[in-house]
Amino acid sequence: MIKFLDLQKINAQYADELKQAAAEVIDSGWFLTGDKLATFEKQLAEFTGAKHAIGVANGLDALRLILKAYIDMGVMAAGDEVIVPANTYIASVLAITDNQLVPVLVEPTLESYNLDLNLIEKHITPKTKAIMVVHLYGQVCWSDDLTALAQKHQLKIIEDNAQAIGASFNGVKTGNLGDASGFSFYPGKNLGALGDAGAVTTNDAELVERVRALGNYGSKKKYVNEFIGLNSRLDELQAAFLSVKIKHIETENQIRKNIAARYLQEITHPEVILPRPVNKSFSANENPEHVWHLFVIRHPNRDALQTYLSECGIQTLIHYPIPPNKQGAYAQMNHLDFELTNQIHDTVLSLPISSVMTQDEVTQVITAINHFKA
Ligand SMILES: *Cc1c(COP(=O)(O)O)cnc(C)c1O
Repeated sequence: MIKFLDLQKINAQYADELKQAAAEVIDSGWFLTGDKLATFEKQLAEFTGAKHAIGVANGLDALRLILKAYIDMGVMAAGDEVIVPANTYIASVLAITDNQLVPVLVEPTLESYNLDLNLIEKHITPKTKAIMVVHLYGQVCWSDDLTALAQKHQLKIIEDNAQAIGASFNGVKTGNLGDASGFSFYPGKNLGALGDAGAVTTNDAELVERVRALGNYGSKKKYVNEFIGLNSRLDELQAAFLSVKIKHIETENQIRKNIAARYLQEITHPEVILPRPVNKSFSANENPEHVWHLFVIRHPNRDALQTYLSECGIQTLIHYPIPPNKQGAYAQMNHLDFELTNQIHDTVLSLPISSVMTQDEVTQVITAINHFKA
């Protein structure tokens, strides 16, 4: 069977180094906020080009803490609005509502699956304080116009970079494009820990101080609590694992790009809609990079295609079957309908893609899809 994602095989590549890292942490007797975390934060900051990186417990917390810090800094307040793509993973929206902020859902484009940047301005109200761009599926969501728009309306741009570590726009890496960025190192992400982990990156020193304090009980000094905080720390074990794995992220992303290039070239089924090669949806002077966290195709009869591929021994997933506004958790938003978002959720299918997929497996996926009869 071709697995959607073989985490065992991915981590087996680095087994010796990972076991060594774990042994060092166990032997040190120091498990939280130590050298391993400091080292990984430095590596992540260097990798993204952002001045600061702060390890936190997971990707959702990274986004929650950014917004919570902005509220504490007086940049925004409960009841203010944050623009966010309607087709994102629910975590982006949870981070907003958890802070008593109001998510303003905006449609993506069918070409990029990312926020339609042309629709943002008409959703801006006096209450709008931030735009949360989500680099969905590994594709950067950015433009020079976006920066200008944010400046014009004095909005913060927060990147949900859970899916796109290593992607870039005109040579600037995601995580260093907006005012602050949230990363997830959930095991299945392009840079995956062996458990939960996340991080915030930013160039804003005040934000760093707030996020650090808020993630540590609102305390800068032990037992002195200035803010009402959370406990959200990236532990030494996960930090040590991530330090090993971040050294290989560029290589792994390159393998993903090579697989995506083959899928784009060789899948020729007339009813399959391929993700648009990113460079064509931007103007000539904009050069975005895609890191293919997911390779998402569309088909009008998606469920039949998924069943067929499963019969061929190929595991696929759906990202995502239900948009946030149609979830039971958000009953107050269930009446909203987003045509493109609905269409995306009804037709998308994610093909296997990872740094440990063999060329032969890629060929099998391509051949199976090209032989599908609806
Ligand atoms: C994974 C993910 C998150 C949340 O990350 P966790 O580490 O699972 O909390 C947030 N946003 C997006 C787009 C994600 O894919």
